[in-house]
Amino acid sequence: MNAAVFHEPGVVVVEDRPVPAVGPGDLLIKVRAASVCGTDLRISRHGHFKIAPGQHRVLGHEVAGEIVATGGPVVGYAVGDRVAVTPNVGCGRCGMCRRGLNNMCPDYEAFGVSLDGGFAEYLLVPAFAVQRGNVFGLPAGPPFGQAALAEPFSCCLRGVQAVGVGPQDDVLVVGAGPIGAFTVLLARLAGARRILVANRSRGRLDRIAGYGADTLIEVGDRDLVAAVRAETGGRGVDVAITAASSPQVQADAVQLLATHGRVNFFAGLGQGDPATPTTPRRWS
Ligand SMILES: [Zn+2]
Ligand SMILES: [Zn+2]
Repeated sequence: MNAAVFHEPGVVVVEDRPVPAVGPGDLLIKVRAASVCGTDLRISRHGHFKIAPGQHRVLGHEVAGEIVATGGPVVGYAVGDRVAVTPNVGCGRCGMCRRGLNNMCPDYEAFGVSLDGGFAEYLLVPAFAVQRGNVFGLPAGPPFGQAALAEPFSCCLRGVQAVGVGPQDDVLVVGAGPIGAFTVLLARLAGARRILVANRSRGRLDRIAGYGADTLIEVGDRDLVAAVRAETGGRGVDVAITAASSPQVQADAVQLLATHGRVNFFAGLGQGDPATPTTPRRWS
């Protein structure tokens, strides 16, 4: 089968690999769609602490496809099922996993990181990942290209829920890429009063308008803090969600919070980026 394989930072090779062998309890998925995440780009450029030097890894962790083989009977799954796969597999035993936070497990495995991922014609989901709930059946409707986005979309859902967006909230989303678009859509569904989106490029802002944004702010070289303060009459926003990987954006987002505001630093920072001290403005 064809697979896109990370060899070392800067080197990803499309190569021929054997179709994985299916062991007891495993599922073999014919990949129909796998989307490219910022994490894939970061790994391809800089590597990952869970990929040892010299180790090769098939990238890709946002995957939808069809089950084409099972390792014996696997309860709840059958050949022909349309499924989406979620990437992180918690150990199932630690304090984080017991709280349902398997994405915070210190001993996690993940497709496209410590396990071969979805940038290949076939993805093997090992029995332990099947048992820990990493494979979800799909309804008949959505095409695979949309279903592959279930994973980033669910991350955004969690991100919006974590800051408790509701009908009294003015919400600022910084970054108008796919994550920003999902966040806008979900903030709208959560009942946000007003949604402001800031981005550097006009093109992406125009595209996000249809997702429910009320105010589009082209930051350009314009200061984000000044622009949002002007738009909100100096009040700031109740919720800020950063969907752009930038320490400056994180610092600015904190400055823009109204009293009792909440912030979610959704987009992570690169390894070299220092965490910026972020002191909220004082109110007297
Ligand atoms: Zn991702
Ligand atoms: Zn764990």
